[in-house]
Amino acid sequence: MEQALPIIIIGTGLAGYSLAREFRKLDDITPILMLTRDDGHSYSKPMLSTGFTKGKSAEALSMADPGKMAAQLRVSIRNFTEVSRIDPDTNQLYIGNEVFEYKKLVLANGASVNTLTFPGSEHANILSINNLMDYREFRQKLNGKQHVLIMGAGLIGCEYANDLLSGGYQVTVVDPTETALNGLIPAFAGKVVVQGLAQAGAKFRMQCFVKEVVDYDSHLLAILSDGTQIETDLIISAVGLKPELALAQSAGLDCHRGIITNRYLETSHLDIYALGDCAEIDGHVLLYVLPLMASARALAKTLNGERTQVSFSAMPVVTKTPACPVVVCPPLDQNGEWQVEQDDINIKATYLSAENEILGFVLTGNCVSAKQSLVKEVKGIHL
Ligand SMILES: Cc1cc2nc3c(=O)[nH]c(=O)nc-3n(C[C@H](O)[C@H](O)[C@H](O)COP(=O)(O)OP(=O)(O)OC[C@H]3O[C@@H](n4cnc5c(N)ncnc54)[C@H](O)[C@@H]3O)c2cc1C
Repeated sequence: MEQALPIIIIGTGLAGYSLAREFRKLDDITPILMLTRDDGHSYSKPMLSTGFTKGKSAEALSMADPGKMAAQLRVSIRNFTEVSRIDPDTNQLYIGNEVFEYKKLVLANGASVNTLTFPGSEHANILSINNLMDYREFRQKLNGKQHVLIMGAGLIGCEYANDLLSGGYQVTVVDPTETALNGLIPAFAGKVVVQGLAQAGAKFRMQCFVKEVVDYDSHLLAILSDGTQIETDLIISAVGLKPELALAQSAGLDCHRGIITNRYLETSHLDIYALGDCAEIDGHVLLYVLPLMASARALAKTLNGERTQVSFSAMPVVTKTPACPVVVCPPLDQNGEWQVEQDDINIKATYLSAENEILGFVLTGNCVSAKQSLVKEVKGIHL
């Protein structure tokens, strides 16, 4: 008997594995092939920036190896396997010269890190950490080290700063903007994040950037744009992520900031879907876990024959920075004004419309306890 064509999922991150798990709840027969260029371990990516705080090594962060995942989900998994090309007209994809035919194809291939180029930027001790394999290398390189410089005071940079402080490391954060979490929270809140982390021991060099890195004894010397020189052992580059588009673009799929899909997670080509960090769903690029879980549930139904739209509820972003916790629900409608109550690093700020409706909020310090009640009050979060 001829073998049925499989659903092929590219990516074994949270999006790929969540989809396979949701689909298996509905269908135990259709073959699923999962392809990943990394080691295929199942792990929770948000935990990467809490390794020291939670006392977890890279090994402990792995919840299951690909063998266990394959058995658990009744799927085939090929790890260390890079998909090089998709041919949407013939429902085929290529791994080098090997050809695979699919019934349905799901792109869950994530986002890649932005990188900066400057003299010395190729140094082996400048790292970006975007998967468990990167994290393993990072923890190995940290052995016996004392000082870490973090490029980027965004969400991920601040989380690593806090975590490394918990691990007993000295930390300097360098960022060209004025305050932390720029673009995610307003400057008045960003300032208290800097204050909280500084009180916990971090040093900040704001409004400048790393211009050059050179070897210096057994350390590195980072030369900043304002001329300051910082001796360090390791540099983390945390300067943003961008949806992985190359594969989709080369296959002729419509892409903008992410791989464009509608609410059904359908791309511009029949039989090809996208979810997770790589996707731009109805105009939204949402590089967080909750949207990908909602997408996985909806897409599993669609792949099982019940075409289902994804809908997102209010999804506040919670930072893992215990030195100054932050919860933010960014306003989608920008026609309002901030109303701020502040006591030291504790802020309760609501973004109000002319009619006094709450369009968004930011909470810091011990005010984060107001999250649940405010989420219910936010108007107009219908992503
Ligand atoms: C440090 C850190 C902390 C975070 N904290 C939070 C948090 O607190 N809350 C929150 O909601 N979100 C958080 N996020 C974001 C969240 O982790 C991501 O949104 C989510 O993990 C993305 O999952 P994904 O499966 O879409 O992508 P990924 O995990 O990036 O998976 C992509 C997969 O695609 C594979 N792949 C890519 N290209 C190819 C190819 N050509 N061929 C084969 N395989 C390929 C990769 O090998 C990988 O398996 C954090 C992110 C980071 C980095």
